[in-house]
Amino acid sequence: MMRVSLPVLPVPCLASLLAAASLVCAGAMAQTAGLAGVPVPANAPYKNANDPPDQRVADLLARMTLEEKATLLSGAGWMESAAIERLGIPAIKMADGPLGVRSWLGSSAITSAANAPMKVETTSFPSGVAMAATWDTELVEREGQAIGQEVKALGRDMILGPTVNINRVPLWGRNFEGYGEDPYLAGRLGVAYVKGVQSEGVIPSVKHFAANNEEFERHRIDAQIDERTLHEIYFPAFKAAVQEGNAWTVMSAYNLLNGVHCAESKPLLTDILKGEFGFKGFVISDWGSTYSTAATVNAGMDLEMLGGPPMVTWASTGQPQAAGNGWGWLSADKVLAEVKSGHITEATLDDNVGRILRVIFVSGLFDHPHAGGGEVDTPAQRAVALQGATEGIVLLKNAGSLLPLDATKIHSIAVIGPNAAVARTGGGGSSLVRPRYVISPLDGIRERAKGVDVRYALGAGMEREDASLNTPEASARLLKEAVDAAAAADVAVVVVGRYPKLEGESFDVKTMDLPTGQDDLIEAVEKANPHTIVVLNTGDPVTMTKWIDQTPALLDMWYGGQEGGNALAAILFGDANPSGKLPVSFPKKFEDSPAYGNYPGVNLKVNYAEGIYVGYRYYDTKNVAPLFPFGFGLSYTSFAYSGLKVTPERWVGGEVPVDAHVSLRVKNSGSRAGAEVVQLYVHDGHSKIDRPVRELKRFQRVELKPGETRRVEFDLDRTDLSYWSPDKKTWVAEPGTFEIQIGSSSRDIRLHAPLKLQEEK
Ligand code: BGC
Repeated sequence: MMRVSLPVLPVPCLASLLAAASLVCAGAMAQTAGLAGVPVPANAPYKNANDPPDQRVADLLARMTLEEKATLLSGAGWMESAAIERLGIPAIKMADGPLGVRSWLGSSAITSAANAPMKVETTSFPSGVAMAATWDTELVEREGQAIGQEVKALGRDMILGPTVNINRVPLWGRNFEGYGEDPYLAGRLGVAYVKGVQSEGVIPSVKHFAANNEEFERHRIDAQIDERTLHEIYFPAFKAAVQEGNAWTVMSAYNLLNGVHCAESKPLLTDILKGEFGFKGFVISDWGSTYSTAATVNAGMDLEMLGGPPMVTWASTGQPQAAGNGWGWLSADKVLAEVKSGHITEATLDDNVGRILRVIFVSGLFDHPHAGGGEVDTPAQRAVALQGATEGIVLLKNAGSLLPLDATKIHSIAVIGPNAAVARTGGGGSSLVRPRYVISPLDGIRERAKGVDVRYALGAGMEREDASLNTPEASARLLKEAVDAAAAADVAVVVVGRYPKLEGESFDVKTMDLPTGQDDLIEAVEKANPHTIVVLNTGDPVTMTKWIDQTPALLDMWYGGQEGGNALAAILFGDANPSGKLPVSFPKKFEDSPAYGNYPGVNLKVNYAEGIYVGYRYYDTKNVAPLFPFGFGLSYTSFAYSGLKVTPERWVGGEVPVDAHVSLRVKNSGSRAGAEVVQLYVHDGHSKIDRPVRELKRFQRVELKPGETRRVEFDLDRTDLSYWSPDKKTWVAEPGTFEIQIGSSSRDIRLHAPLKLQEEK
């Protein structure tokens, strides 16, 4: 028998409490003492929407039996938490994300089933990396809001996103989902997404905490990362989402971190997330990532997903066991047994349950359940998707100003490639959304270039798609058709890249090279037509050695969601001016990337030996020239930078919190309206410890009419000059002279000025 300790109450009062539905107990006694399991009156304080959430949590917790509390720690299905009808605690109904609301089948089944009888179609937004390429926090916030609206419209309460894991290696299968290689950029966008979702009373989940940077053996791989690197590279986006976005939930990662599975790491979840970052929400496990009961609960992992019958069905397939998943550890019976044996204290249980309840109150879910029945894929939501896809396109090369195309002067276009006629909207896995319609590059170009003769050629079969197109004979025929089409046209547009079978969740991308046949296709088309525009349609950098020197124009459209083709056409024909900037460096070859040699790991351990030198921090510090640097992207106009001022130049630090103010002017010096992303980097040349040559600390996307000048202003504080000191367990800025660098990319620094940090005497 479970021992449930009841507070000592005067007998008559306790008796009357147990007997009556009215719970008002006279006197100074704690109002809710001894109420566990007692029938709840209609006016119980926790039901009062006007009371502060923490007070409601305390009241409700006191009314719950131990059994009820234990029930809340594990999911009741594939996509929902447990409900407790007696107390009116609703299930949290989830939907996968983050690139839109992924369809689910029924309430609790595997959500991506291709043969799902119930189709849920929603707006397919551009991939995370495409949204990151916009550097447009306001737009990402609107995206979050649009997704929140769709979640509600479908009667769900929670979206499983944003993904803010850092792009450590160009081959991570989920790079397309995340916000690139820089912790500050990923943090800003994560905060924006969270704010947008939460503004609709929908619960986001910032994932996957922490260091889920490869899919290889994702349940068993043990990431070995030093403390400074964690604080400087892999934690900041989560910290920002928690502290500035006030995120309601965080999802723990599948992998192990420094020897412990993330879902049972007390240092990670309790000490850092809940302690250091002050996270007040709940931690949800990634699906099937728990391996113990007491250790997991005590670590601060609050809600285990998935759960209930779907978990049993899933387990019966044998697949999760083979993959190394773990599940079923936080079922009520197991949790209760551990409470009984003293391995989990009631206080710990209360903290975990209290966090789940708090989110249910704070989000408004308790008071205003989402009934569903609303509209999805509205014109406003589509407009956000289109804007994201357009702003996210990066112009990487434009020799001889081949772009933009003039539809009145061009008579024919050959649109070529395995990604030209099919809309490849996203990478594979839990983020893949089923949209109502899609616009392929070919559709978009045809629609925009009415009156122009648009011809299509496949050019190369897509790897692992239709085997009959990949035989030597078929390949030769397809290549010839493409060359003929290119030779006969004024302009050729070759759209290459991957698709969900080659790039997605649960496996890494095999090679940085484009899929078989695509390099040859580009080379052949470029030979046939000097006016060739290559368009990349992937989530990752790819090797371009074979053709890049001959390529006059190159665009990266990433995975652009349902509106990708329209966005591409708008950029090609100059209806929109490219303003995307790379959120990841593009190395010339995989061997140049910082993690090379320490990926995917040996004996299930991956040593993050490059430490803080991730992305441009590595390329710029170690003088390895990337093919295209972080922050880079061309425009059809040009921008002039001037007038950098840093005030005060001498900054007296010490205990006093001080700010430095940075201001400069940017002018659109060309003849088209356009947007520039002004990037502020800090260079610390005097540090006694190793520091990257520059680190991004601020940015601003500025839209300018031709000839227009705008003042851009930033405030910096001491943390922006600091590194994480494992000895001092805090951020440290060393007195001396820093350099504030203003750039159009990490390798195109246009202005710089000193900022002297001097300690108070
Ligand atoms: C993924 C999560 C996802 C969850 C639920 C996991 O495999 O890693 O990102 O939200 O499944 O589908």
